[in-house]
Amino acid sequence: GVPEVPVRPIAERRVSRRIQVGPVAVGGGAPVSVQSMTTTRTSDVGATLQQIAELTASGCEIVRVACPTQDDADALPVIARKSQIPVIADIHFQPKYVFAAIEAGCAAVRVNPGNIKQFDDKVREIAKAARDHGTPIRIGVNAGSLDRRLLQKYGRATPEALAESALWEASLFEEHDFRDIKISVKHNDPVVMVEAYRQLAAQCDYPLHLGVTEAGPAFQGTIKSAVAFGALLSQGIGDTIRVSLSAPPVEEIKVGIQILQSLGLRERRLEIVSCPSCGRAQVDVYKLAEEVTAGLEGMEVPLRVAVMGCVVNGPGEAREADLGVASGNGKGQIFVRGEVIRTVPESKIVETLIDEAMKIAEQMEKDGASG
Ligand code: SF4
Repeated sequence: GVPEVPVRPIAERRVSRRIQVGPVAVGGGAPVSVQSMTTTRTSDVGATLQQIAELTASGCEIVRVACPTQDDADALPVIARKSQIPVIADIHFQPKYVFAAIEAGCAAVRVNPGNIKQFDDKVREIAKAARDHGTPIRIGVNAGSLDRRLLQKYGRATPEALAESALWEASLFEEHDFRDIKISVKHNDPVVMVEAYRQLAAQCDYPLHLGVTEAGPAFQGTIKSAVAFGALLSQGIGDTIRVSLSAPPVEEIKVGIQILQSLGLRERRLEIVSCPSCGRAQVDVYKLAEEVTAGLEGMEVPLRVAVMGCVVNGPGEAREADLGVASGNGKGQIFVRGEVIRTVPESKIVETLIDEAMKIAEQMEKDGASG
């Protein structure tokens, strides 16, 4: 077979303190976790729990729910108890909901200090309640709701302003000896966002929650997030991520996981190595790649499948993968672990690949179970 090449980690992770969001460790060398936020009315307990179940199934590890009203706050105890993954209550404006979320057993509370009125007076009480319940706090600074004082000082939401705002809010908690904190400083511009996180990373050891806020529809948001997270994670910065898309939250999880896999920060599962096609292609590569991807969706074992349009790079890539096809003359040479096992007509390529993938997966699971 193919020799295993050990993959070097993309960077030494920044040393951060560790917090516990329920059973999920964040920071201190814990694996980078992927999170999202529900889009249902939190007060609609059934719909919210349904969406959380879908997110959990897609690989989401921490979920955030908005808490803008008393009805939402009232729903938190049941949601926190019944959710399969830790629930973070997202609170703007009202400290009373912070207390409600802590009492409700939420795994953490996100506060946006720029938005919480008279926050300063309440910090002592919030720190006390959070400490009593072992509930960490995320200080979530957002360019769109930056503290007025800092907006005046810097003129706009610069990286310096975002980092200073977050550190100032953290210092209010530190005054009460509370350091069970993670921080985010989100901006819709990846360049500003990356610089804000870099500055923050250099000035504190709190774990950092990465996010490009209001990143846009799926295509643009995916690229903005991938570029920004890639820049930061490749320098070891970032302990948990949330991709923000104007798309269903399950899509955010898929993108988040794919980003971590691309950076080698998470085991690669199914990976399709398909060529872009060109004037040499002798089969419909797009259709083939799409059908193979769809046919293998949800596969749990790490499997590299090469789908190549012709014989130029085809055999090489197909040989490197666990499984592959190199096409020519309306036929496909099917490779398994580097060997051509058979040649099939174009119409049979997809089903043959899926069949062989299932066999390999079964074998891998058996080997995994016995080893
Ligand atoms: Fe073109 Fe062949 Fe390369 Fe695909 S594998 S891009 S068809 S040369």
